[in-house]
Amino acid sequence: MRYISTRGAAPRLDFEAVLLAGLARDGGLYVPESWPSLKPKTLAGFDGKPYAEVAAAVMAPFIGKAIPQKTFQSMVAETYAGFRHAAVTPLVEVGEGVWIEELFHGPTLAFKDLALQLVGRLYDHVLKKQGRRVTIIGATSGDTGSAALEACRDRRAIDIFILHPLGRVSEVQRRQMTTIDAGNVFNIAIDGSFDDCQDIVKACFNDHAFSDKIGMSAVNSINWARVMAQIVYYVTAAVALGAPNRKLAFSVPSGNFGNVYAGYAAKQMGLDVSQFIVGSNRNDILTRFFKSGSMKVSGVVPSLSPSMDIQISSNLERLLFDLFKRNGPKLGEAMNAFRKTGRFAAPKSGWPAVQKLFTGYKLDDAGTLKAMADLYKRTGMLIDPHSAIGVAAAEAARKDKSIPVVALATAHPAKFPDAVEKATGIRPALPAHLGNLLSRRERYDVLPKDLGKIQDYVLSHRRSGSGN
Ligand SMILES: *Cc1c(COP(=O)(O)O)cnc(C)c1O
Repeated sequence: MRYISTRGAAPRLDFEAVLLAGLARDGGLYVPESWPSLKPKTLAGFDGKPYAEVAAAVMAPFIGKAIPQKTFQSMVAETYAGFRHAAVTPLVEVGEGVWIEELFHGPTLAFKDLALQLVGRLYDHVLKKQGRRVTIIGATSGDTGSAALEACRDRRAIDIFILHPLGRVSEVQRRQMTTIDAGNVFNIAIDGSFDDCQDIVKACFNDHAFSDKIGMSAVNSINWARVMAQIVYYVTAAVALGAPNRKLAFSVPSGNFGNVYAGYAAKQMGLDVSQFIVGSNRNDILTRFFKSGSMKVSGVVPSLSPSMDIQISSNLERLLFDLFKRNGPKLGEAMNAFRKTGRFAAPKSGWPAVQKLFTGYKLDDAGTLKAMADLYKRTGMLIDPHSAIGVAAAEAARKDKSIPVVALATAHPAKFPDAVEKATGIRPALPAHLGNLLSRRERYDVLPKDLGKIQDYVLSHRRSGSGN
């Protein structure tokens, strides 16, 4: 299996290289050169199998020869054994043909664990094999930081530094990061905003002398391996609801478009999906895109679903690549123009197929609270604001009521207790493994937004060895 860049001007890579590369050298994102196929017989064979077994089988063709099959299978088994539900991503029916797939049973209570828990292990394996170490530096406004730290903790070939804006993440979010007791985990609170944190990370990357010296890397949402791991729960949901003999639809609360793109990948592999509903909050560039075929950038406004407060959805480029009939240079031109002008228009050919498959749906904060309250009244279930947008979108935007629709629940309600309490009057409790979160010892250092000071901190705290 080889991977190619969506902009057509970067080298083709194998799985190992694509795992460590992140962004392609031409500014594009890596996608598989061709899609492996999930045959009806294979899908039927998945019925009743444990999640980890299906996961290893679905991902195997993407890994190729990079990791021996047995090793990969045990890595996957170990990854999902760490989840708190035996089914890993259980399905719950909440209405006539409307299902919720719970993706929040991982260690940090967000769907990002499903991919990152595996990616941390993949990184460690490949780095050890190559005799290399990396230093990951990332910025977080809340959720991604804890998922990345949990994924990389105690991994011998990785040191990880996460920058968060001092006093600007919630207490639960901060404690999920700062109470991790592992020798390779470093939390830095920056006296500044999230944008300051992100600027510092970018500046570290662009200081090549520094980034080469420490072997700097990122596990951000454009990493192909994260998309790959997310394909699995689309497959398990479909099989549980009758695939290959029955179609279904998915509703996905979206920010960077990584989650829903994994569903599109599952469809390219042969899953019979009739519709993808793409949920957004008031930051609705995706809703406008799927309605009109054009995008216009505007400012980000904070909402009750902060993980979807995004202007430009980075993974959308992977879908656009197919819309441009896989013409990388042409897409590259359009993306460069988009960056310059803040405007993008889809090519006419190909657009009807995209519009037929994807439906955008936007819900503001008031609508989100109402969706949380409605579901609670109807079923007694508490859901978080992101998941609520997915459920409301599923009910409002499904095209064919005879086809089941699966709404992806992307965070545990206890991760957003204030919004849940506001909507339902009930404050959700943290799961047992986080029960003592509020009394655990925190470890983090506060630094000014000063590139030199932060680089000195990284150099003196990372454990050892050079990047290469
Ligand atoms: C990251 C995140 C999202 C958005 O996922 P994308 O892959 O960026 O579309 C939605 N909900 C929650 C809770 C998240 O943490």
